[in-house]
Formats: sequence, C-alpha cells, structure tokens
Amino acid sequence: MKVVLQGLTKKFPPRGGKGEGVVAVKDFTFEIPDGKLVALLGPSGCGKSTMLNMICGLEKPTEGRIFFGDDDVTEISPELRGVGMVFQNYALYPHMSVYNNIIFPLGNLKGEEKMTKEQMKERADKVAGLVQIRELLERKPKELSGGQQQRVAIARALVKTPRLLLMDEPLSNLDARLRLQTREEIRRIQRETGVTTVFVTHDQEEAMSISDMIVVMKDGELHQFGKPQEVYDDPANLFVAKFLGTPAINVFDAEVKGGKLIIGEDTVLDVPGVRDGKVVAGIRPEGFIYDPAGPLRCELDRVEVMGRDISIVSKNAACEAPVVRSIIDSDERPEDGLKTVSFRLRPGKVHVFEPETGERLRFGKGK
Ligand code: ATP
Repeated sequence: MKVVLQGLTKKFPPRGGKGEGVVAVKDFTFEIPDGKLVALLGPSGCGKSTMLNMICGLEKPTEGRIFFGDDDVTEISPELRGVGMVFQNYALYPHMSVYNNIIFPLGNLKGEEKMTKEQMKERADKVAGLVQIRELLERKPKELSGGQQQRVAIARALVKTPRLLLMDEPLSNLDARLRLQTREEIRRIQRETGVTTVFVTHDQEEAMSISDMIVVMKDGELHQFGKPQEVYDDPANLFVAKFLGTPAINVFDAEVKGGKLIIGEDTVLDVPGVRDGKVVAGIRPEGFIYDPAGPLRCELDRVEVMGRDISIVSKNAACEAPVVRSIIDSDERPEDGLKTVSFRLRPGKVHVFEPETGERLRFGKGK
C-alpha cells in the first residue's frame, strides 16, 4: 500500500499558552511507494518521531492530509489504521512469555476479525518463523538478548498483517555487531513480507544501507527525498551533502572566477555556469586523485592504511575541518618524507554551494 503525505504540518502549542510554540514538521509532501522501505533521516529534534506519530495516528496534524492508498485516514483513530509499530525500547510485557507477547494484539480483535486459539497459534508460528525465534516462544523477555527482544517486537508488530510497518530507531539499543545483523534481518523480513515500511533513524549509514528511499530532514523541514545513492551523489544542499557519507565530505571556503573554482591560491576545477563570487566547495573523500602535478596543494599530515585503500590526511587553511580526508587506491600511496601533497579532482565528486543559504550551485552536465 502506498502512503501519501500532503502538506503535513505539526505545530505544538507553547507551554502554558505563552510564546511561539514549536513547529515540529513543516509542510511535508511526499509519497511512500507501495512495498518500499523508506528511512526518515535527520539529526535529533528534526521531527522524525512526530512524523511517524502522525502517520500512525498518535498525533493529529495541525494541517495537511494522510492517505493510505486512496483512503484519507487523517481523522481515523490509530487502532483502525492497520499499522504495526516497533519502538527503540521494544516495549515487551515482562511478565508474559514471548508467545503471549506476540499474540497480544490479536486478543483485541472484535467481531468478524476475532480469532480462535488455533488461528492465533498458526499466525504466531508464522511470524515467529519469519523472524527466526520459534525456539524462544516459551521464554520471558528478560531471558533474551537485545537482538532477540527486538525480533519479538517485530513479530508482534507483524502478527496482525499490518498495511504499514513503522519503526522508530529500532536498532538504537543494540551493540554495533547486533545492529548490523539486525538491520540486515529487518531488510530481509521487509522484502519477504513486502509490507510498506517507514524506518526512523539519525544514523546516515543505517539509512543508506537499509532503505529504498531516504527522506532527509532538518528542523522539521524536508531537505531531500530520493534513492540513497541519488541523494549521496546529487545532494540538494550543503546540509544534505554534509549529513551523508563517511568519512564526511570535505568543506572549503572557495571562490569562483570566470567559471573556475579557486581554493586558497589554487585554481582547482572548471565549474562552467557558476556565477563569480564566494562559494562553499564540498569535495567527497573519493573525489581526490593523488597527482604530484595536481592543482590542489595540501600539507601532508599522515597516511592511514585502510586495507585496499589508503586515506591521505592533510591540512589546508581553507578547509572548514582541521584536516582534509581523501581516499586513494593503496597503489598510489605518496612516497615517504613528503611535506606537501597535490591532488586533481573528480568533477562528479565536487559540489559547489551558496555560502549564505547552502543551496547547490550546479555546473556542467549536472546543471
Ligand atoms: P529524536 O531523534 O531526538 O527522537 P526527532 O527527530 O524524533 O528527535 P521529535 O521528537 O519529532 O524529533 O521532535 C521534534 C520537535 O518537536 C522538537 O523540537 C521537540 O522538542 C518538539 N516536540 C516533540 N513533541 C512535543 C510535544 N508533545 N510538545 C511540544 N514539543 C514537542
């Protein structure tokens, strides 16, 4: 089922009726395609949870409409929306067995939907198989690892065969190894069930690896919506460019003169079509080509070995961060004892932005 959000806004009133209040989500319009996994990505406080709560019906939008397929569900109560929810803290009932936790939502079904014990068992068995916890059904939540508890929470969210699955930072309480494993599991389960899923995270790597589409947000505003690779390769603005990618994009104070990009004293790249004046230049770490005759000169700090690649860590007075990080093939390692390193740049990995607004200034083919 596709989900359509139209002009969705949430304004929380001021505490005690005084002041401005908080606009947690501002005028969001986008469509979540049927059967896809979409990540809501942004820093803390940007409105991700508020967005999720409006989709499931726990918060009422101040303005805008929400459609599930062709149905306008904006005024419909959460129980009737057919949504499964998974939270960061699992929210399992500690005194109940895993089995009883899973079938709990089925006990509330009424009328024609009411299920017999056998039907519930069949359903629980199916979802427990899907999340691979069949052998744990008799245990209590405290007898499970964090990863297993999160699987139980996912099974419970899926047991009513929801039309939509919503996950709010489901991996935050897991250690690094389990996070990786569980995110792959979530991807598999989502693919197997085909259920449209919205996944909230502030971790860009998690969002990039798990989702079909990413919504990048900040201060309640939508900054970009697209496939992960597209958003990485073609960021709409400086915020998006900085938020995605590890190591992060290198940001320089720069200038454009006659279609040439100048960093410090070095004329580093042709940027046809960009107006003259001060700009911010972003260079992805993989956008540097080590070349002793290259135009961008930096002071060599150190070389870090990363296996197949190396990272040349250098300094440049125009760089916003203390060091410039470039990723180079290990065959192209600079010789020992150098004080200065020079680079050519890959045009597709260099982005130019308006210094005041952070808007992208496109050049060449990308214009
Ligand atoms: P986090 O990643 O830290 O959970 P988030 O991106 O999910 O953050 P929200 O919880 O949606 O952000 O909050 C967005 C903004 O709305 C914040 O400024 C927050 O303080 C504010 N906010 C959230 N809930 C309420 C509320 N019930 N009353 C007033 N302000 C609220």
